[in-house]
Amino acid sequence: MIIAIDGPAASGKGTLAKRIAAHYGLGWLDTGLLYRAVARDVVVKGGRLEDLGAAIAAARAIDATTLCDPHLRGPRAGDDASMIAKIPEVRAALLDYQRTFAQQGKGAVLDGRDIGTVVCPDARVKIFVTASDEARARRRFLEHHGRGDTITYEELLADIRRRDARDSNRSVAPLAAAPDAILLDTTDLDADQAFVAAMKIIEKKVGK
Ligand code: C5P
Repeated sequence: MIIAIDGPAASGKGTLAKRIAAHYGLGWLDTGLLYRAVARDVVVKGGRLEDLGAAIAAARAIDATTLCDPHLRGPRAGDDASMIAKIPEVRAALLDYQRTFAQQGKGAVLDGRDIGTVVCPDARVKIFVTASDEARARRRFLEHHGRGDTITYEELLADIRRRDARDSNRSVAPLAAAPDAILLDTTDLDADQAFVAAMKIIEKKVGK
């Protein structure tokens, strides 16, 4: 079974996807990490994110064993990722890895921006997770604050809005709900409530 969880930055889709995968014993892939890692690799090699050739080469050489790098979780890494994510050849280079991951054993849960639309259009269940800009910035703020980061709520809100605009307006695989995705608004839900709501959607679709 393949489950696609898409949504904008900090919508809670990652936490949700991880819990759903654990519940069903499926693999889990946070596809945002692939784009974050490509941007990291460009910068580490002294390249610029605007350099198409450097970004494409980094995507083709991506090493999935480096996705656990904690530096990939910061807001800067997310912003950098969205710069290179608009390059069609970068997206194409990452497609095989994502599709192969999805086909493993019992299946997998993938979260990202284009899972239901491009990566796994035949996914059994597609959920599009949303939340208000303010709720998403608040969550990110608490997360960063807990880690001792000094970034402000206003900076996080601006980052989220900038990234949403870039991801929604790009010409290839923009952030969008697939026509057959079920919308899940988590603005007023905590992580447990969001999980319960997602499980209802999945069980209705696949049967208990
Ligand atoms: O999900 P996350 O915030 O980690 O994603 C970082 C960036 O990677 C996004 O803002 C987006 O530009 C890009 N991305 C993408 N397609 C995906 C996952 C992430 O374009 N499937």
